Amino acid sequence: MARHRKVIILGSGPAGLTAAIYTARADLEPLVLEGEPSSTSDQPGGQLMLTTEVENFPGFPEGILGPELMGSMRSQATRFGATFETVKASRVDFSVRPFRIWVGDPTTEDSTYVADSVIVATGARSLMLGLDSERRLLGHGVSTCATCDGFFFRDRKVVVVGGGDSAVEEALFLSKFASEVIIVHRRKELRASKIMQDRAFRNSKLSFRWDAAVVDVLGEDKVEAVVLKDVNTGELNELAADGLFVAIGHVPNTDLFKGQLTMEESGYLVTGPGSQTNVEGVFACGDVQDHVYRQAITAAGSGCTAAIDTERWLEGQEHRKALSD
Ligand code: NAP
Repeated sequence: MARHRKVIILGSGPAGLTAAIYTARADLEPLVLEGEPSSTSDQPGGQLMLTTEVENFPGFPEGILGPELMGSMRSQATRFGATFETVKASRVDFSVRPFRIWVGDPTTEDSTYVADSVIVATGARSLMLGLDSERRLLGHGVSTCATCDGFFFRDRKVVVVGGGDSAVEEALFLSKFASEVIIVHRRKELRASKIMQDRAFRNSKLSFRWDAAVVDVLGEDKVEAVVLKDVNTGELNELAADGLFVAIGHVPNTDLFKGQLTMEESGYLVTGPGSQTNVEGVFACGDVQDHVYRQAITAAGSGCTAAIDTERWLEGQEHRKALSD
């Protein structure tokens, strides 16, 4: 028998947890399917679990560690009655009401849950370069998370690929451990914000390889070097390194919703008005529907929007039902 909930929230980053706080305070007793710890794409707490200091979340003048911030949001949601399951949905069916959600084996006829409304907050995951060698050496010197793996590179030489805030943030963090950090970027200038660029250029451990693409990672069991290609001349060069950190952006976690929720070509969910998706009663918030701002605070704000939209929609449904009874 499928278990019934008024609201199920998929995802537990700042968007999902803010939606949980608000729907819990509205007495909707939300269930949060928070993701799986083993996952690198949709782990409980979302991408902030893979970051260090969050300096721009209002209310923390001295900054706060990403995992600590997410832990506080989770406690706050729990305090108001939200419940959590450390799993991720394996299948959804939004064509019927109540909506059906499976956890575990997606081929079973009965779903695990049915829900009157769903808030999708599954976030986004790191983009990879797409090299066979990168895949083979992931966890053996190739990483997408300096916070998780930086410690292993004490007094080592590492390469960070990318030119945005993520790449600079990773590089700055790694400079606390590594002897040398080289940012490899495919253009001549960084995309990162000015404040991050200033920090990067001031850091004596950081250097830059402009107009260069990483086209291969060398090493049998661990990273020994990367092969760089000059994007202007096509010339190949080996650069010895003990680690490669890939920080080239993100893709939304929307595979589960293909064919059911309207998405852009890039996979981001289309929402509006407010957080409404194309399926009435299914709402979306955070990075899964935002490729422009992608900040913890904007994700949290949109989680609040989704919770209020959900609450009002459920009220409207009850009102309609009462009139027809
Ligand atoms: P991003 O801004 O999209 O930057 C991605 C970078 O990777 C770009 O420089 C891009 O090059 C490069 N790139 C993309 N695909 C590549 C490929 N296949 N090979 C080589 N290079 C590739 O992504 P992000 O840095 O993850 O930042 C995402 C958002 O989060 C931004 O809004 C950012 O401000 C925010 N963020 C903020 C902070 C902070 O405030 N502390 C920290 C992290 C992220 P091009 O420049 O040539 O396109």
